[in-house]
Amino acid sequence: MENKNNKRNIIIENLGEVNNTEGLSIFDIVLEKDKQTAKKAILAEIEFKDGLKKFVDLTFIPSDLEILKIKLLFPEDKESLDTLNHSTSHIMAAAIQKLYPEVKFAIGPSIKDGFYYDFELDKVITPDDLKPIEDEMKKIISSNYSFIRQEITKSEAKKIFKENPYKLELIDGINDNNVSIYKCGDFIDLCSGPHIPTTSRVGAFKLLSIAGAYWRGDEKNKMLIRIYGTAFFNKEDLKNYLDKIERAKLSDHRKIGKDLELFSFHDEAPGFPFWHPKGMIIRNIIVDYWRKIHQENGYQEIQTPIILSNQLWHTSGHWDHYKENMYFVKIEDNDYAIKPMNCPGAILIYKSKQHSYKEFPIRYAELGLVHRHEKSGVLHGLFRVRNFTQDDAHIFALDDQLGKEITSIINMIKEMYNVFGFKDYFVELSTRPDDRIGSDEMWDKAESKLEEAIKENNLSYKINPGDGAFYGPKIDFHIKDSLERTWQCATIQLDFAMPEKFDITYMGEDNLKHRPVMLHRVILGSIERFIGILIENYSGNLPLWLAPVQIAILPISDKYQQYAQEIYDNLKKEGYRIEIDNRIESLNKKIRQAELNKIPLMIIIGEKEQDSLTITIRKKLGGDIKNIKLEDFINILRKNIENKKTYFEEYV
Ligand SMILES: [Zn+2]
Ligand SMILES: [Zn+2]
Repeated sequence: MENKNNKRNIIIENLGEVNNTEGLSIFDIVLEKDKQTAKKAILAEIEFKDGLKKFVDLTFIPSDLEILKIKLLFPEDKESLDTLNHSTSHIMAAAIQKLYPEVKFAIGPSIKDGFYYDFELDKVITPDDLKPIEDEMKKIISSNYSFIRQEITKSEAKKIFKENPYKLELIDGINDNNVSIYKCGDFIDLCSGPHIPTTSRVGAFKLLSIAGAYWRGDEKNKMLIRIYGTAFFNKEDLKNYLDKIERAKLSDHRKIGKDLELFSFHDEAPGFPFWHPKGMIIRNIIVDYWRKIHQENGYQEIQTPIILSNQLWHTSGHWDHYKENMYFVKIEDNDYAIKPMNCPGAILIYKSKQHSYKEFPIRYAELGLVHRHEKSGVLHGLFRVRNFTQDDAHIFALDDQLGKEITSIINMIKEMYNVFGFKDYFVELSTRPDDRIGSDEMWDKAESKLEEAIKENNLSYKINPGDGAFYGPKIDFHIKDSLERTWQCATIQLDFAMPEKFDITYMGEDNLKHRPVMLHRVILGSIERFIGILIENYSGNLPLWLAPVQIAILPISDKYQQYAQEIYDNLKKEGYRIEIDNRIESLNKKIRQAELNKIPLMIIIGEKEQDSLTITIRKKLGGDIKNIKLEDFINILRKNIENKKTYFEEYV
C-alpha cells in the first residue's frame, strides 16, 4: 500500500506499532515506548517487506520504507552473545594498539564461545603480555565508549587504512562502493557490524591463549599473531565457562589415552592411530557388544576389501564428489583407490546373486575400515583421524518396509546410547537439497517416512531444510556429553541413487525385476572417535564393563601378599581384568596410583580381611564395602558387568 505523507508504521516485536519515527534511531524509538527495554537491548533484527532479515546496531535509523518489523535482541539471545564477543575483539584491538602503536590488524571475528583477533607485530607476544592487554581493555570498558558506525567510500577507507595491507586487501574485496567503519574511543576498524551500544555492556571477559595464524589461512602468507578470548554479559557466566574448559582440559582424550596407555600417534603415520593392548580391550568390548546387538536385530556381518578399482568409484559417484578425500594406489599397472566408504563393497556382495523380495529386508553390517584424507592441520587425536572404523550397515528393503526398518534402527540407536551412558541427545532431519536426483514424489515419501519414524519414537527434532544428501534425506543423532558438548554420531540415510547407479534389482512377487531401496546407517559413527568421546565424557573413568583394568588389588603390606595373590588368581580365573600392586609402598600411595590409573574398584587386603577370609572394596568414585566374602563380591561384579551399569551398584 502507498505510504502517505511519509508517516510510516513499524511493528516492534513485543512492543507493538510505532509511528512518526522520522529520523529516530531504533534505540530512540524504543526509548519513547519503554525505557527499561531500550536499556536492556543489545542489537536489533530488521525485517523487510520481502521477508529479508538483517542484524543492525540500535543506533540504526530505520528510514527505509521497506522495513516492516523490528525485533530487539537481549543478552539471553545467542546473536547478542556473538555480537558481544565480536565487540570485545575490537576492544582488545584498541588495547593492543594503545600498547603497541605499530601493530597492523587483520581480522577479529566472534567464534563459538569467544573471539579472536589476528595481527602483525614485530614482537613475540607471550602469555605474560596478556595481563597488561586485559588491564587496558578494562579501562576502555569502564570508559563506556559508544560503538559509532560510519559509512564511507572505499577511497576514504583506503586513506584511513593506508598503512595496513590487510585492511586494504579486505577493502578491495568488498563488492560495494561504500564500506562501514566503527569507532570506539580512539580505535577505528573496518567492519560490517553490528556492535553492542557501548563498551560497558561487556560484563566479564578473559583472554585465553595466543597462537600463530596465517593471513587468510594460507600457509604461503605471513604468519600473524592470534589472541583468543571470551566475553560474557556477567561474571557468573564467565566463571561457569572457565570451569567447563578446565574440566575439558582434564578430560582431554589425547592426554588420558597416553597416560592410560590406550593408543598413540607417531610421526611415521600422522593421523593414523596405533592401538595399545589396553585400548584394544576397550575396542573389543565395544565390538563384542556391537556384534551381539546386530545379531539380535537380524543383521548379517560382512567384510569388504579396503582397496577397490577406480572404475567402481566412478560408478558410485565418489570419483566426482569425493576424490580429494581419497588415497590411490597402483597394482600391476591398474588404478585402485583405498575406500573412503563401505557402500560400493556392500553393493557388490548384494549383486553377487539374484535376490527375491522374500529375503527382504537384507541387512548387511560391516565394521568397515575407511581411509579419508584430512589436512595435517585439522588432525585432532581420535576426533579427526585419517583412518577409522565405521559401524556401518547397508539395508536393502522394499518401499513398504522402510517405516518399520527406520523405527528398528532408531530403537537400536536408543539402546546403544543408553548402554554407553548417553541419555541426552537430539535429532535433526535434513530434507531435500536444491541439487538432487529423484522425483518430488519420491522425496515427499522419503521425508515423510523419516519424519513419521521420528514422531513415532517420540524424539524431539529440528528440521534442517535443504541439508539432505543429493540422493536422499537423512536423520542425524547428536549426543550430549557430561561437558554439555554435542557430537553427531548416528545417521540414517535413505538412498534411491546408488541402487540406480549400480543397477541392482530383486525379483518381485510378479516375477519381474524391481529396484530395491537402500538405507545407509551408522550408530556410533566411527569406533575410534566414539572411544574418544567416551573417554572425555567419563574423564577416563570408564564404567566397570568398559574399563581396561577393572580392579586393583592392594595388599596393605607384604605380610598379606599371599592372601592377595589367592584373591587375584580367583578373580583372574573368572575372567576379570585385574592388577595387583605388590610394591613396598604405603596404602595411600597405592590407592593414589590406582586412582591415577582410573581403575574403578580397589580390593584392600589387610589383617582383618586375611583373618576373616574377606576383602574390602574401595570404589574410585567414593564409598567402601567392608569385609565382604569374595563370592558375594563376584556376584555383585557379575551383575554390574552383565547389565553394563554406568556406575557401580551394590546389589543386595
Ligand atoms: Zn566489528
Ligand atoms: Zn553407505
